[in-house]
Amino acid sequence: MIRNLPLLHEKMRHWRRHLHQFPETAFEERATAQFIADQLAGFGLNVHQGLGKTGVVATLSAGTSHKKIALRADMDALFIQEQNTFAHKSRHDGKMHACGHDGHSSMLLGAASYLADHRHFNGTVYFVFQPAEEGRAGAQQMIADGLFEQFPADCVFGMHNFPDIPAGHFAVKAGPMMASFDCFEIIITGQATHAAMPHLGNDAIIASAQIITALQTIVSRTVNPADAAVVSITQIHAGNTWNAIPDSVLLRGTFRCFERHVQQLIADKITQLVTSICAGFGVGAEIKFNPENPGYPVTLNAETETALALKAAIVVAGVDGVNLHPVPSMGSEDFAFMLQEKPGCYLWIGNGSSENSCLLHNPHYDFNDDILPIGAAFWVKLVETVLG
Ligand SMILES: [Zn+2]
Ligand SMILES: [Zn+2]
Repeated sequence: MIRNLPLLHEKMRHWRRHLHQFPETAFEERATAQFIADQLAGFGLNVHQGLGKTGVVATLSAGTSHKKIALRADMDALFIQEQNTFAHKSRHDGKMHACGHDGHSSMLLGAASYLADHRHFNGTVYFVFQPAEEGRAGAQQMIADGLFEQFPADCVFGMHNFPDIPAGHFAVKAGPMMASFDCFEIIITGQATHAAMPHLGNDAIIASAQIITALQTIVSRTVNPADAAVVSITQIHAGNTWNAIPDSVLLRGTFRCFERHVQQLIADKITQLVTSICAGFGVGAEIKFNPENPGYPVTLNAETETALALKAAIVVAGVDGVNLHPVPSMGSEDFAFMLQEKPGCYLWIGNGSSENSCLLHNPHYDFNDDILPIGAAFWVKLVETVLG
């Protein structure tokens, strides 16, 4: 079994630490993609590059079956200054693999290497390495570029490490695993005036304060209490001096939930509240949803594929090593775009308890190399299960 191959573990560790030292951010993963493509070609796989700008897809077939499975890893890093001091720390100033995508890519490379050597399956495996998971919707870009036309998988699987789950354990369930994610921007336009003469202008700041408070009633008064959701204002920009009321306020924020109809409900309610409050105060209102990047849908696991992933996870980690009832995360994941196109499953692999591993997107984070063979073993077992 792949878990007991020290040489492959050593290779995966080497790949992981190499990728960690040279992190590249969204749609700029050129050296990363080339490194991955070179390894895949070395295993004898057919490699396609350039889908979604820097995406890589490798194809491996065995036997005569027409069944096809896609396995996805992400490649991009974050704009975070690494504060670790170990030898493999980032050599790119201000950029860091703080979400473990270096580990995800290495585990999938390990599985590709093993499957190319052993081929105990019947069908086709697509190994998908996607760019720009962090907020830039690289998965959506690959789909728009024809991912599933060129590589027509029947189903698709993704895996992410998760701190605070014991190292090498898995957590997965059918239904929502991660929330949808939307950004919004509100520009309130009033009329500037002297702070001593507010009656001669129209105060956008007062209107913005009402809006901020009113938006907090969406979750408490509009969304069904049985449906989880969160609305957060994360930026307020207005004014630059003590004694003048500015003519405009810019607010920005996000909202997240687990149901598409709730997502729409929140967007509609934001529009209604902002428009009516601004009308009441006689100030202008402009609302933009997802002005810079697309929002992410809910990461929704299909029943059948989740059962298959569970089966493989239990073979690798044992019944006690698999949490069948994880609490879904209010974080979001652009693998959701792939799950909108194909039935599939997204699961978490533990990076180790919080004493030993810090949270994702933390400047002290590091992927746990001990779980590389476990994640790779899961991929192999999944392929052998789905394409048995
Ligand atoms: Zn992340
Ligand atoms: Zn991530």
